[in-house]
Amino acid sequence: MINIEQELKNIEVLNPGETEFHQATREVLNSIKILLEEDKKYRDFEIIKRITEPDRQIRFRVCWTDDNGNIQVNRGYRVQFNNILGPYKGGLRFHPSVNMSIIKFLAFEQIFKNALTGLPIGGGKGGSDFDPRNKSDREIMNFCQNFMTELSRYIGPDRDVPAGDIGVGEREIGYLFGQYKKIKNNFESGVITGKNVLYGGSLGRKQATGHGLVYFTENMLNYNNMSIKSKKVCISGSGNVAIYAAEKAQELGAHVITMSDSTGWIYDPDGIDLDIIKNIKEINKSRIFEYQKFKPNSKYFDGKFTWDVPCDIALPCATQNELDLNSINNIIKNKVIALSEGANMPVEPQCINLLLENGVLFGPGKAANAGGVSVSALEMSQNSLGLNWTFDEINTKLKNIMINIFSEISKTCELYNLRNNYLAGANIASFKKVADAMIKQGVV
Ligand code: NDP
Repeated sequence: MINIEQELKNIEVLNPGETEFHQATREVLNSIKILLEEDKKYRDFEIIKRITEPDRQIRFRVCWTDDNGNIQVNRGYRVQFNNILGPYKGGLRFHPSVNMSIIKFLAFEQIFKNALTGLPIGGGKGGSDFDPRNKSDREIMNFCQNFMTELSRYIGPDRDVPAGDIGVGEREIGYLFGQYKKIKNNFESGVITGKNVLYGGSLGRKQATGHGLVYFTENMLNYNNMSIKSKKVCISGSGNVAIYAAEKAQELGAHVITMSDSTGWIYDPDGIDLDIIKNIKEINKSRIFEYQKFKPNSKYFDGKFTWDVPCDIALPCATQNELDLNSINNIIKNKVIALSEGANMPVEPQCINLLLENGVLFGPGKAANAGGVSVSALEMSQNSLGLNWTFDEINTKLKNIMINIFSEISKTCELYNLRNNYLAGANIASFKKVADAMIKQGVV
C-alpha cells in the first residue's frame, strides 16, 4: 500500500512554504494513486521521492541599471526538474510575483506536459521577479542581458532550452538570445525557442498555445458528441495564450464575449474584435479598458474577472489560481459545458472535483496548453536540421499532436475506468512514461 498523504507531508517538510509546489504535487500524486497501488515497481524504485525532487534549482542575482542611472537588483531562477525524456525545456516568466515555489510548480507540471506531447523534452522552468511593465525598451534589454549573463552557465541546446511565458515574448527572447550568442561566440539557435523567424524562430510558435488549446477543447467536445461551433466562449487574460485562443475559437465559429487583464475585464455581447485587442495589448502594451472606446456596445469592469457571464465554454488564460470557489460556482450555475486551462493551474485544486461532479468537461492545463511547448520542440528540430517548415506544416503537426494528446488521455480514462476525469487520465499517462524511462535509466 502506498501512503500518499505521508509522501505529501514529506514534500511539505522538504520544501517549506512552497505552497504552489505543494498544490501541484498534491494534484498529481492524488490522481495517480490507482496506478501506484496497481504496479509495485513504482514503489520499489522510489519514483515518488525521486520525481518530486528537482535535479537542481538555481537562484541568482541580476543587477541592471534603470533609465535614471540607478542600480536595480532582482532575483533570477531556473529549476531543472527532470531530463529523463530529453533536455530540460520550459519557459521563463518575468513577473513581480515570481518566487522559487512558483517556478518549481511550473517546472514540475512541465515534466508531465512535455511527456504528453510525445516529443523528446524534459521539464524545467525559470524566470525573475523583474516587472517588465512600464519599463523602457532599453531597461528591458539591459535586464535581459544581465539575466542571460548568469543563466548562460546552465543552458545549452542539448542541456536546457528556455522559452517565453508571462512577461517574456519575442522581444525579450531576442535580447536573451543576442546576449547568449555574444557570451558563447557561437550561433546555437537551438538554445532558446520563441525566436523571431528572421533568426531561427518557427512560424506558428506565437499562435501555438492558444490554437492548440482550442484544438484540444474541440477534440474533447467532439469525443462527447459536441462542437465549439456557435458556442459562447469566455476567455480570461489578453496576453499571448488568450489572444490566439480567441483567434482559433472565432475561426471555428465560436463567439468570444469576454477577455481580461490584471486591472479589469471586458464583456462584448457582439463578440470580441481581436484586431482591437491586438492593437491595445500587443502593439501599444496598454490596458484592456481602452477597448470600450472602440466598441461602445461593450462594457468594462474594474477588478478580477469572476466568470459570472453566461457562456458554454470557459478558457482561463491568465495565471495560476485565478478561479476560486466563487468563480467555479458561477461556472456551474451558468451550466458551462467545458472548461479548458490555457494558463498553468488556473483552477484552485478543491474546485476541480466540483467541476467534475457537476458534469463540466475539464481540460487540464498540462494537456490543453501543451501546444506551445510542442511547437517549441518543433522549433528545436528545425534549428538542428537547418530547415524552416511552413505555417501550414506546423499547424498540421500541432493539430495532430493535440489530437494524439487527447486520444492518449481518453484511452487512459477508459483503461482505468475514470469516466471523464481527463486530469487523472493526463497525470497517469504522463507519469507512466516518465517513471518507466526513469526505471530504464537506472538509479541516478
Ligand atoms: P502574457 O504575459 O502574454 O499574458 C498574461 C495575461 O494574463 C495578461 O493579460 C495579464 O494581464 C494577465 N495576468 C497576468 N497575471 C495576472 C494576475 N495575477 N491576475 C490577473 N491577470 C493576470 O502570458 P501568456 O499568455 O504567455 O501566459 C498566460 C498563462 O499561460 C500563464 O499561466 C502561462 O504559464 C501559461 N502558458 C503559456 C504558454 C505560452 O506559450 N506563452 C505555454 C503554456 C502555458 P496584464 O496584461 O495586465 O499583465
